[in-house]
Amino acid sequence: MSDKPVLPCTAVLRHVTDVHCHPTDSPLVLTDDELHRLEITICPMATRIADQSQVRDLARAHPKNVVPCFGHHPWFSHHISVDGRTAKEAHYRQLFSPKAEQEEIFERLLALLPEPTPLEQILSTLRNDLQTFPNAMLGEVGIDRTFRVAMDYFANPRQLTPFTIPLEHQLTVLEAQIDLAVELGRNISLHSVKTQQVTMELINRMAKKHGERWTNISLDMHSCGLSPQTWLQLEKAHPNVFLSLSTAINGRSPNLKKLIATCAPERILVESDLDDIRLCTERTWAMVLIIAEVKGWAVEKEWADDVPISDSGVVRRLEGNWKGFQRGRHKHAVKQNRAARKADEDFHSEGSEE
Ligand SMILES: [Zn+2]
Repeated sequence: MSDKPVLPCTAVLRHVTDVHCHPTDSPLVLTDDELHRLEITICPMATRIADQSQVRDLARAHPKNVVPCFGHHPWFSHHISVDGRTAKEAHYRQLFSPKAEQEEIFERLLALLPEPTPLEQILSTLRNDLQTFPNAMLGEVGIDRTFRVAMDYFANPRQLTPFTIPLEHQLTVLEAQIDLAVELGRNISLHSVKTQQVTMELINRMAKKHGERWTNISLDMHSCGLSPQTWLQLEKAHPNVFLSLSTAINGRSPNLKKLIATCAPERILVESDLDDIRLCTERTWAMVLIIAEVKGWAVEKEWADDVPISDSGVVRRLEGNWKGFQRGRHKHAVKQNRAARKADEDFHSEGSEE
């Protein structure tokens, strides 16, 4: 999967969007040159208190091909106080519940952790950013069951502590951010790791809670790790949920091709999930080629306007999906379409095993 693909011409690349990446995490200084050379559109994700301003700056400097994404990642959700408890030690002690034998490591970690920031303050900055950039999305937000808090997240190698962030805490931080995105009509890039059931329940709950305002926005399951069966349930129940795939995360999954085959053609997006801006185009394109292969779609070598959807290649189809994602206002499929889809699903689930 790490083979370097041959890139198409600029006229084709201009229609490609990397829907999830992390250029502000790169140790490389983002030079204007690198960004000016960028031919695709990127969606840089913010993840924590310190990097919201970096995404802001990036979007201001490159409004043409940057869709800024603001939000707080579950890996940094412990920095946020959700219950008004802002005394540092009490906050982290309550979250991590250190056992007696973990006291020493807790003390060492505590010294390195920031003062907790109240959720209301997080939300007010987030509201500001989303309102300042009318095309901005919420991201990267989510839930993660495998993550363990590192002694120093930025150390290399990272030394992991035994502490995890309780799922209820992650969910409180996530739901508050989702509620804001729904209120402002903004799309979401969601991280979900080893939490299939909880994620399904969350999305069902959001749909119920927000009704039509929920289907007015779109939700992207970023580097989607769901099983093809779970994806299918989600796709059927929620017309506003998309999935995006990266070679970085999905590349080695034995489920990748099955997932692509299972996914409705209009719900797939592509991403790199990378920090290094110099690799975003190449890695996003590698996933475009995999999708083209599995779906049997042609790969555009040049760009022609006014091509009917039936003759569309992979780039035009994925571009259409991205436009549909951005537009939102999704409708539940009518019964007839469901029956047609069911037949298609049966076909895929029988025929696409690797
Ligand atoms: Zn990410």
